[in-house]
Amino acid sequence: DPSPGVALEARHLVKEFRGFRATNDVTLQIHGGEIHAIIGPNGAGKTTLFNLLSGFLRPTSGEVRLFGERIDTLPPHQIVRRGLSRSFQISSVFPTMTVRENVLVALQSPTPLPGQFWTPLSRLEALGPRADAILASVGLGDAPNRPAADLSHGEKRQLEIGISLTQDPRVLLLDEPTSGMGSEGIARVIALVRQVARGRTVVLVEHNMSVVAQLADRITVLQYGGVIASGRYDDVRRDPRVIEAYLGE
Ligand code: ADP
Repeated sequence: DPSPGVALEARHLVKEFRGFRATNDVTLQIHGGEIHAIIGPNGAGKTTLFNLLSGFLRPTSGEVRLFGERIDTLPPHQIVRRGLSRSFQISSVFPTMTVRENVLVALQSPTPLPGQFWTPLSRLEALGPRADAILASVGLGDAPNRPAADLSHGEKRQLEIGISLTQDPRVLLLDEPTSGMGSEGIARVIALVRQVARGRTVVLVEHNMSVVAQLADRITVLQYGGVIASGRYDDVRRDPRVIEAYLGE
């Protein structure tokens, strides 16, 4: 029973850690083509929900559906194949490899499967043109040969977004893409997210309300693991429960 126009959906999602409900009966719909922000005070359950949506955690109960099909029982690499990729707040970049090598390795495989070994980098050159196009699209076209470890914090986030784009996802999940950035980096990421959102659905966890206001078509607000409001940014930000949740932080 797919819901028309819905790309990603949670139905009565629950995640308990030793009896503690980090995700409490979350039902939410991400519309195809929208930029949807998940916000909420610290400890509200944003990261846990993200991990459930991308298959990095199994729900205690409830469902996750991608284009109408259940994905909550699939391992992350199969979810990637069905069109959903995510970036990580904790860097997934290999620091000793160059920027371009990081993208080449990701193009070859989103996650190394059990028993599968990495292809030698020399054999990945066939993927070079695609790697270069991705680097250009995330604003790293002039930095292909720099070791990833030498990138600034903001450039690392750009590379992480580039790595998630290697799977050409229909749905892209971004975990705090502006965290730790100054105003210049934030402006760059906003432009980048707008660009990668063309023809895609984007879900982001974001703390910075100005970023949310500029980017999000719709938002979902979490508190104590549950959804307290969901809808267009301008409507939700006036919701008394939302104001109270943030004043109490
Ligand atoms: P947020 O990302 O909104 O800050 P989290 O999803 O990280 O919130 O955490 C929500 C709640 O679940 C917190 O109280 C946190 O301590 C708890 N929690 C998260 N992961 C675990 C875990 N693996 N084991 C136990 N408790 C956890």
